[in-house]
Amino acid sequence: MTVELISIGDELLIGQTVNTNAAWLGNQLAAMGAKITKTVTVPDQKNPILRAIQAIESDLCIVTGGLGPTNDDITKKLLADYFEMELVLHPPTLAHIESFFSKRNRPMLQANIDQAKLPDGCEILPNRFGTAAGMWFTHEGGHIISLPGVPYEMKDIFEQEIRLRITERFQVNEMYHRTVLTHGIGESFLAQKIANWENALLADGLSLAYLPSPGLVKLRVSSPKGISEQAKVEHYLNALKSIIPKELFGVEQQTMAEVVGQLLKEQEKTIGTVESCTAGNLAAAMVEIPGSSDYFRGSLLTYQTLLKTELLDIPEDFIAANDVVSEAVAIRMAEAGRNKLSTDYCLSTTGIMGPSQGDSKDQVGTVWVGLSGPNGVMAKCFHFGDNRARNIEMTKLAALNLLRLTLLQENS
Ligand code: ATP
Repeated sequence: MTVELISIGDELLIGQTVNTNAAWLGNQLAAMGAKITKTVTVPDQKNPILRAIQAIESDLCIVTGGLGPTNDDITKKLLADYFEMELVLHPPTLAHIESFFSKRNRPMLQANIDQAKLPDGCEILPNRFGTAAGMWFTHEGGHIISLPGVPYEMKDIFEQEIRLRITERFQVNEMYHRTVLTHGIGESFLAQKIANWENALLADGLSLAYLPSPGLVKLRVSSPKGISEQAKVEHYLNALKSIIPKELFGVEQQTMAEVVGQLLKEQEKTIGTVESCTAGNLAAAMVEIPGSSDYFRGSLLTYQTLLKTELLDIPEDFIAANDVVSEAVAIRMAEAGRNKLSTDYCLSTTGIMGPSQGDSKDQVGTVWVGLSGPNGVMAKCFHFGDNRARNIEMTKLAALNLLRLTLLQENS
């Protein structure tokens, strides 16, 4: 089954709105085994929309946008004319629109009533969350679906009305996907390390995608034959665990904080943080996980150098002698935190997030993460870039990963 997507909207062309509809639909349809052959974005104008429709070559085309009640929303009329259909009042849609407005206690205009006038030869796809119904046109063996541009309306119609019909009307093989999460190894190093594994997997009819994001590379293994190849996919994932045992930390939608939280819970250990450069972000990542109060006790935020003396009792001259971003200070911060917060483990962060230099003599992007625990204290240095937000994200992940590896090692 081949599919193409047409996104309508001036705001998409000028970058005012990111075209998340095409990304989402592409993702869903590819996972259903469809081949996406083209996505185009056109302005809210008759001729460009018409040309895009005339150029459709695929089994199915999904058009989004331009279905609203305003004058610039021309998709419905254009499609009706194209398929030589009349716009006629569709009573169930009118009833839905009337109830939509009365529930919100808002007056209804003629333009809203006109939204219930729909092409007489298409299937109507009800829109539970809005007033613009979806439409499915079937013409000379081809299929065109028109959906509203509002992302949550579009997604709901897809789930309620379209997904099942696609599996009934087209030959599709739902792909089977499994995703594993890695940290601490860049994409190209990872590719090198797992090259033999990847080649074997490809020769076995599976496919592999590298999905990098700051600090993480996700690996998605897919089978075009669907769930019937679940065992084969699992076999490859198990083999991967022994190739990158340290780097592979989770699966699917898990987060590093979730994985670390699970370990702390299992081992009945507590954690606290003393944060400088992450300024609470590490603590925030921990408490995003439901049930984190079982193991996360709290945090001391000592951002300015002086507070490291006032709150953590690290002498001023000690900091001056070692530099505030240093192994020695990260260690003292983690030790002080463990004592003051009465935890089994304490993570500390001190670094220069950029773009300016701050109190340290070190290079922007230098970060020390400290970890104190029942078996002693240590600190590790990282060198990130000069993007502040990215450095905070990377430090958070690096700190959580240090704790993860320590928990695994100390309690294996
Ligand atoms: P409405 O009934 O709200 O007018 P519509 O079908 O006419 O729906 P548009 O007017 O094109 O849709 O867009 C409605 C909203 O959805 C706008 O905020 C628009 O930016 C957003 N939107 C439209 N297309 C997309 C897209 N492809 N990806 C993400 N957002 C989109």
